[in-house]
Amino acid sequence: MKRAVLCTLVLIWFGCLAAMTGAQGIQLSQGKKMKIYISADMEGVVGVVTGDQLSPQGFEYNRFREFMTAEVSVAAQAAFDAGATEIVISDSHGNGENLLIEKLPQNVTVVRSWPRPLMMMQGIDETFAGAIYIGYHTSTNNPAGVRAHTISSARLADVRLNGVSMPEAGINAAIAGHFNVPVIMVSGDDQVVKEVQAMLGNIEGAVVKWAYGFHSARTLTPEVAYAVIRDKVKRAMERIKEFKPYHIKAPVQLDVRFKSYRPSEMLSYLSIVERTDSHSIRFMGKDIVEVSKFLEFITTYEPSLEP
Ligand SMILES: [Zn+2]
Repeated sequence: MKRAVLCTLVLIWFGCLAAMTGAQGIQLSQGKKMKIYISADMEGVVGVVTGDQLSPQGFEYNRFREFMTAEVSVAAQAAFDAGATEIVISDSHGNGENLLIEKLPQNVTVVRSWPRPLMMMQGIDETFAGAIYIGYHTSTNNPAGVRAHTISSARLADVRLNGVSMPEAGINAAIAGHFNVPVIMVSGDDQVVKEVQAMLGNIEGAVVKWAYGFHSARTLTPEVAYAVIRDKVKRAMERIKEFKPYHIKAPVQLDVRFKSYRPSEMLSYLSIVERTDSHSIRFMGKDIVEVSKFLEFITTYEPSLEP
């Protein structure tokens, strides 16, 4: 009995060896895991110019959810085609419930709704090889770009990390960088591509529209935008080894400027917060993860939170 088991094991071993030597290259590349993270916003999606496309109250929202979903789908599919083995997508706009999950490629998982400690990067960790931004927009400090804002267009006038004004793309790159993951590609209007490339270097950029102002742009049509995104993701995957994670120095000094007066007044009651002027506060985080949690807290918390 024992001898039979041993024989079987030896046979399996030799069988495996034979299979490996027969197609070693294929075996090795097929066995290699490559995880890609996709953070999806909506302001930078093809055709989006105003609130009419961006929230469930807008008359064009349901159609533009389709376009957002399609942009994310082609990005995911292009990444799979280029060797990605696992993809996590975060639905990171508005209510976090925009993507039509039944229309995404079968083998992805999707992060939905809020709050979440890593905000638009929830789900990322050190096992990912690269991060992709779809549908992104410029910072609240940028005079150009469709729907330019940082985290909350209604509430925040500036977000700085270690003294430097940050777009969402920068904050999220620092979160990815904390886990040693580089950002490899961004899609959106011409201005966000310019802004992100100025900050992160020569990553791939898919321009799907050209901004004239906060609420106006000249846009591609959806199918053409999908082709541009597909092409840029493919190129980014080919170049994936060239990109460097974006690291910021720890501890991280966070400065937030509110559009209203009272948030800074109330937050200054907390001993971990310093009020730096009428509308601004400062928080020192031991790293970007702590800063991310603090940002999520101050933009989400209200005493009426239920359940
Ligand atoms: Zn958004």
